[in-house]
Amino acid sequence: MPDRPPVFDDREDAVLTDAVAALVESERALAELEAARVLQFAAAMRVALERSRHRPRATQEREMALRSIAAEIGVALRWNDRTVQRRLGEALQLVDDFPATLQALAEARISARHAAVIRDGGVELDDPVARTSYEARVIERAATDTVAGTRAFARALLEELHPVSISERFTRAEQQRRVWIDDDVDGMARLGVLDGAAKIRAMYDRLTRQARAVRSVPRPESAGDDPDAVDDRRTIDQVRADLLCDLVLTGQPAIDPTADALPGGLGAIRAHVSVVVPALTAAGASDRGASIDGQSPIGADTARHLLAGAPVWDRVVTHPVTGAVLAVDRYRPSPAIQRFVRARDVHCRFPGCRRPARACEIDHSEDHARGGPTARTNLACLCTRHHTLKTETTWTARQGPDGSIEWTSPFGNTVTDRPERYVAFVPEPDPPPF
Ligand SMILES: [Zn+2]
Repeated sequence: MPDRPPVFDDREDAVLTDAVAALVESERALAELEAARVLQFAAAMRVALERSRHRPRATQEREMALRSIAAEIGVALRWNDRTVQRRLGEALQLVDDFPATLQALAEARISARHAAVIRDGGVELDDPVARTSYEARVIERAATDTVAGTRAFARALLEELHPVSISERFTRAEQQRRVWIDDDVDGMARLGVLDGAAKIRAMYDRLTRQARAVRSVPRPESAGDDPDAVDDRRTIDQVRADLLCDLVLTGQPAIDPTADALPGGLGAIRAHVSVVVPALTAAGASDRGASIDGQSPIGADTARHLLAGAPVWDRVVTHPVTGAVLAVDRYRPSPAIQRFVRARDVHCRFPGCRRPARACEIDHSEDHARGGPTARTNLACLCTRHHTLKTETTWTARQGPDGSIEWTSPFGNTVTDRPERYVAFVPEPDPPPF
């Protein structure tokens, strides 16, 4: 005899029905709000463009008006200013080139994510007639399909409407090839590569074949009962990752234009990372607080392993109560002030920016030309983007004796950035650049 179907409580049914109705209502309200926000971003973008028109000089200088406004909005929203700048551009694009999509969003027929799919695909169509036709058909689809389903439909439609052949587009797209990193949690990070699909698939295929070969090596007869001679227990994913790391960290590129100019060629170039380790962790008394560049936490064992191989150290002494950096010394004498500032700041000091200090320039918070001293109380790390923002726009920075920096935006809003607090050893693999 078959099981009887479970009996559901009517009250539970009512709760679910209400929840679904409320969620539909929330989704509708969010779409309307998003359409309003797009208009606000677009309005700000128009102001930025208007201001930059009055800057006749280089492109870099013209972009400053935009960057300054993006930073103003970013500080107010507590968003990264790069994200704000991207959203400004996307908003104006939606308003100017995809009016029907914005309308559909405002009427809550589609969501913000559907609208982004329509815009991302549609920007590839330069012809306004083709774009309007594309837009109308994808909106109709988006009104009844998921985001992923809409994206697949939009891609297929683009292929149909696209005036440029796939090979021409590939040539253009290939110019965007690049490598980047993303931090993950638990001491992990991701490495991304964007390149031609054939090349990327070939890389993955070769790693897979190599990994299968590694895993098929039989346990050596000679191992006997040796407990260390265990079979390779790594998964195929783990072996692929290990092989890729090994190839990148130790391999030598087949094409090496530096072979004659550089001793050892490209193969002699080694990776450098800055490791920040609290003194107690370095000494083995604690397992906490170690990181790469002050932003990717790593395990104490990894940190001590890396320290053992580092030739030179900066020791950073901090105040036991406030944590403020008091002094820096190192085993080799050198102008300590730059090291002090990099050690104190860890990363760029513009609010929200995490560019590591070693990729930053050291800036006089109060301009040197206006009498700002070259002292640690007036120096701070800024990445190129934010250094330029401070130099080229009316954003100003005022530094306090504890290293805090009060930023004032062109509209008079203020925000204070405080340096990181830690007790640390910073290994210095590079010879001093001065
Ligand atoms: Zn920055």
